[in-house]
Amino acid sequence: MSKSEVVVVGAGIAGLTSAAILSKQGLSVTLIESHTQSGGCAGTFRRKNYIFDVGATQVAGLEKGGIHSRIFDFLDIPSPEATILDPACVVDLKDGSKPISIWYEKRKWIAEQEMQFPGSSRFWNLCNSIHQSNWLFANNNPVLPISNFWDLTQLLKALVPSNLVTGILLKSTIFDLLRICGLSKNERLIKFLNLQLKLYSQEDVYKTAALYGATVLQMCQQPHGLWHLKKSMQSLSEALESSLNKTGVNLVFGQKVNSINFDNVNMRWEIYANSKKNSFVYQAKDLIYTAPPQSLLKHLKGPLNRKITYKNRLSNLPNPSGAVVFYSALKKEHIKKIFSNHYQFVSHEFGSLFVSISEEGDGRAPKGEVTLIASIFTNAKEWFDLDNQNYLKRKKDFMKKISLELEIQFDILPENWLHRELATPLGFEKWTNRPNGIVGGLGQNPDIFGLFGLSSRTPFEGLWLCGDSIYPGEGTAGVSQSALMVSKQILASKGIENFNL
Ligand SMILES: Cc1cc2nc3c(=O)[nH]c(=O)nc-3n(C[C@H](O)[C@H](O)[C@H](O)COP(=O)(O)OP(=O)(O)OC[C@H]3O[C@@H](n4cnc5c(N)ncnc54)[C@H](O)[C@@H]3O)c2cc1C
Repeated sequence: MSKSEVVVVGAGIAGLTSAAILSKQGLSVTLIESHTQSGGCAGTFRRKNYIFDVGATQVAGLEKGGIHSRIFDFLDIPSPEATILDPACVVDLKDGSKPISIWYEKRKWIAEQEMQFPGSSRFWNLCNSIHQSNWLFANNNPVLPISNFWDLTQLLKALVPSNLVTGILLKSTIFDLLRICGLSKNERLIKFLNLQLKLYSQEDVYKTAALYGATVLQMCQQPHGLWHLKKSMQSLSEALESSLNKTGVNLVFGQKVNSINFDNVNMRWEIYANSKKNSFVYQAKDLIYTAPPQSLLKHLKGPLNRKITYKNRLSNLPNPSGAVVFYSALKKEHIKKIFSNHYQFVSHEFGSLFVSISEEGDGRAPKGEVTLIASIFTNAKEWFDLDNQNYLKRKKDFMKKISLELEIQFDILPENWLHRELATPLGFEKWTNRPNGIVGGLGQNPDIFGLFGLSSRTPFEGLWLCGDSIYPGEGTAGVSQSALMVSKQILASKGIENFNL
């Protein structure tokens, strides 16, 4: 039996970040990861001469004042090397008109908006004002949703006057903003927004919360921006791991947590884990759970049976998407029409494809070659319902169709692929332990965003949730914010209130 003050389950970005912050504040921390490496959905894998980013390919929050950067400064470790993405993405609506370049430079992006969507400036200005207000609020480290008086005090401290105005939009959607601006019939703008919002919120304009959507639509521009990491996405996790090593976190790989219970005698959580050969038990007063909350139904059976309302809430969480991801490599000269690392284009077959192309010489492919990763959303459960033969058939079919779409989009000759493979929700489940391979949190509609979401504070004292199902949601920047929030809550529960980051 191993004892520490805090046990963290899962060494994705949420788990690494919370473990690093709490350990830096002097708490003894054990971090348990089932995989042989950290990173989770923001990890990488090596194949032949290539390094592929498993899920996340671009990072927000690395600029000065951004969440990753603030955390790296606090941990006193250097930020991983990265370059700004400009344009952040090129979006092809396949309607015969010029693709939309989402520029980093504000002036250029405003000119592009005017050219692509004439008369839309009112909408973009409104989003910008909402975003400015959100940003001031988020930088004051609020606790959301509120579960007790202390959470409420943190929320009140974080509020700025403009939040009282934007607060009236709490239950509004991006479509409501379009309506206010007289753009509810602008089909081209809606098509563009649908593609982009789906990437960040899993929802379209009709269902994305206005307060969330307004911010993600401003993330590609200065003073924020999206970043491309040198070497691979793993460098984000490696940087956080370097902090864990410095502060003495007990980082355990290759052990899967399979059950959690509360020891009423010692008043501690007991965490049971298995490696391929052995069983382990950990004890801690506080437990941070970063796997999807749906997995608690399996891991927390005994305690949940005593909190039926909470159990029902977890059982009835919205059904998130799965992803199919195509990993490939080519000679750079064999992909045409490339002037951005990221593309998104409309696909008749899949709705849309999001494409990430590595930078030549960035460490992901040998000289003269690049990796190309394309992802689509899919209904995760459908893949699990297939028998082996039909599963393999469907996988082959997806591989063929995705290859063809990319060949047409980038003038690639079929014989020029140097490598191709596909991950389905089954692969994601195996890699990240996410039930049914679900990705990206709970979605960001007004009924589940912010005040109305799932709280990091559970009905069980000392059991905390963290990760992309918790405010503010998906993305490495989002889960880092949730890690900061949960760390703040745990420190406060131990009387450490002067923690400032
Ligand atoms: C295809 C795809 C593309 C994406 N693109 C981007 C992007 O470009 N930019 C961006 O910012 N975000 C992107 N995201 C989202 C982003 O990757 C995630 O929101 C974020 O990385 C989630 O971090 P996490 O720590 O909450 O969860 P995870 O990354 O899932 O980490 C959880 C960890 O817990 C471990 N674990 C789970 N269960 C157990 C258990 N029982 N015992 C021990 N360990 C366990 C897992 O192995 C995993 O390492 C993308 C996601 C996907 C899937």
